[in-house]
Amino acid sequence: MSTLVQISVVPSKIEDTSYILELALEKAKLRSGSISDWRIRKRSIDARRDPVKLNLQIEIWGKEERREQIPVFVPTNVSEAKEITIIGSGPAGLYAALRAVEAGFKPILFERGKDVRTRRRDLAAIHKEHIVNPESNYCFGEGGAGTYSDGKLYTRSKKRGNVLKALEWFVHFGASEDILVDAHPHIGTNKLPKIISSMREAIIEAGGEVHFESKLTNLKLENGTMNAIEINGHQWHSCTDLILATGHSARDIFYLLHEHNIKIEAKPFAIGVRVEHQQELIDFIQYHGDCDNEYLPPASYALVEQVGDKGVYSFCMCPGGIIAPCATAEEEVVTNGWSPSKRNNPFANSGIVVSVEPKDLPNFNEDDPFVCLDFQKQVERSCWEAAGKTQRVPAQRMIDFVEGKKSIDFPKTSYQPGISSVDLNEVLPKQITKRLKKAFVSFGKKMKGYYTNEAVLHAPESRTSSPISIPRNPESLEHIDVKGLYPCGEGAGYAGGIISAAIDGINCVDAISKKHSNPLETSRNETV
Ligand SMILES: Cc1cc2nc3c(=O)[nH]c(=O)nc-3n(C[C@H](O)[C@H](O)[C@H](O)COP(=O)(O)OP(=O)(O)OC[C@H]3O[C@@H](n4cnc5c(N)ncnc54)[C@H](O)[C@@H]3O)c2cc1C
Repeated sequence: MSTLVQISVVPSKIEDTSYILELALEKAKLRSGSISDWRIRKRSIDARRDPVKLNLQIEIWGKEERREQIPVFVPTNVSEAKEITIIGSGPAGLYAALRAVEAGFKPILFERGKDVRTRRRDLAAIHKEHIVNPESNYCFGEGGAGTYSDGKLYTRSKKRGNVLKALEWFVHFGASEDILVDAHPHIGTNKLPKIISSMREAIIEAGGEVHFESKLTNLKLENGTMNAIEINGHQWHSCTDLILATGHSARDIFYLLHEHNIKIEAKPFAIGVRVEHQQELIDFIQYHGDCDNEYLPPASYALVEQVGDKGVYSFCMCPGGIIAPCATAEEEVVTNGWSPSKRNNPFANSGIVVSVEPKDLPNFNEDDPFVCLDFQKQVERSCWEAAGKTQRVPAQRMIDFVEGKKSIDFPKTSYQPGISSVDLNEVLPKQITKRLKKAFVSFGKKMKGYYTNEAVLHAPESRTSSPISIPRNPESLEHIDVKGLYPCGEGAGYAGGIISAAIDGINCVDAISKKHSNPLETSRNETV
């Protein structure tokens, strides 16, 4: 058994391994000659007090102890194995395919978008030419919304074993080992595409299939059981186990399920704006003025405020980041954010969003599963119209917004397609604006300097989570009415980020495995 100790160091000591070891040995009451190995197991920043400290958890192995090396990904040769069909190559679909390969199933993965490399051109077209390809954009394509995301890998999931497995697979396919140590792991948009393509290569190498530009367009059931799927409007494939991991932006999938009378439900979600400050200001606030400390990473923040009966909270904060145009169709605008691994842009952006429940909406009808989706669409379209019917977004300085004044000019922002000065009070629904205003003032009290007219609001932040859920049996993970259909990941309402989506992908394969009495342990016989 190894020994665990907690120590704190000032940031400038983080690279001084002898100092760290000395402190840890002192704390553990051990001598250096009595140990065989050690490592930093967890690292977090404690910025609550001045000076800022780094909390480290150190793991030490004694002379007789061995550091365990467990293989993290053990593929089987699945070229002739029973098939599992997966729709969507986001984190949920990709991890499902990898797990299938481990469990002895042959994954057949269909993805409507393009491979990571080709997809990049379509992203450039959104930024520069305002052209949104409805099949290839920030949400659709290899790796899903996760590929050109920020790659922050924290989750509220409490099942540490599952989280660790999801993180270890990222490391196995090329991410830095730091993500296993940092309390708030982050990969960065520049690193993700290579990791995603390594995952794809491993699936293919093991005998699985990955098909791009292959969109699920129809399905066939027989006696309430999955029977076949149609790809691209003409190719039918028989399929008895279908993992549907199409993400929160595949609206056509929700309509398709509804047409087939497959139950879907309106789900609470959140809408707001993406706020951008100068990173320097956020560092100054969070690090008590110590903003030039080269050992501290660009600072982040997490804010929450209850305004009346609704929560207003920060979402997907990106230190040193960029605001991205994330629409998936023409005639709408959507913002989100990402950052490179070094987080070295001069901007700090975050969604600030207000919770929305189906019953809050003017057209609420409990039999209508589309009430939240319709509201989301309406907000995205109003913003598109208000900013000039391109991929420019409506924008306003923070205090101007609270005071209801259109902004005369703007500081430079990171949103490349451009911004248009609009009074967001006239574009966004009042139930959102009135709460955002109160929250901004209150956030300014919690973080002195946050409430400033140098901050620019970009609208809308509207794809925080799925506005629809696809109900499934909590044990079998199959749809409540359709055998063999496994709603999975964020689009179905079972995940809220990369790691939780990835874990849900694994869980769906494990559920299929259980159904076919194929315990994972016995399928690990033939390694590739
Ligand atoms: C810019 C940006 C930044 C983000 N930053 C972070 C972050 O830092 N940390 C974090 O945890 N999360 C982040 N997210 C959210 C995260 O990416 C998602 O939570 C996650 O990707 C959801 O995984 P998923 O597999 O459920 O769905 P998705 O990633 O949405 O994948 C769904 C896939 O299904 C495909 N698909 C859809 N319909 C069909 C069809 N009919 N046929 C075939 N394929 C189809 C899509 O093309 C897509 O590839 C970010 C998202 C964006 C857009």
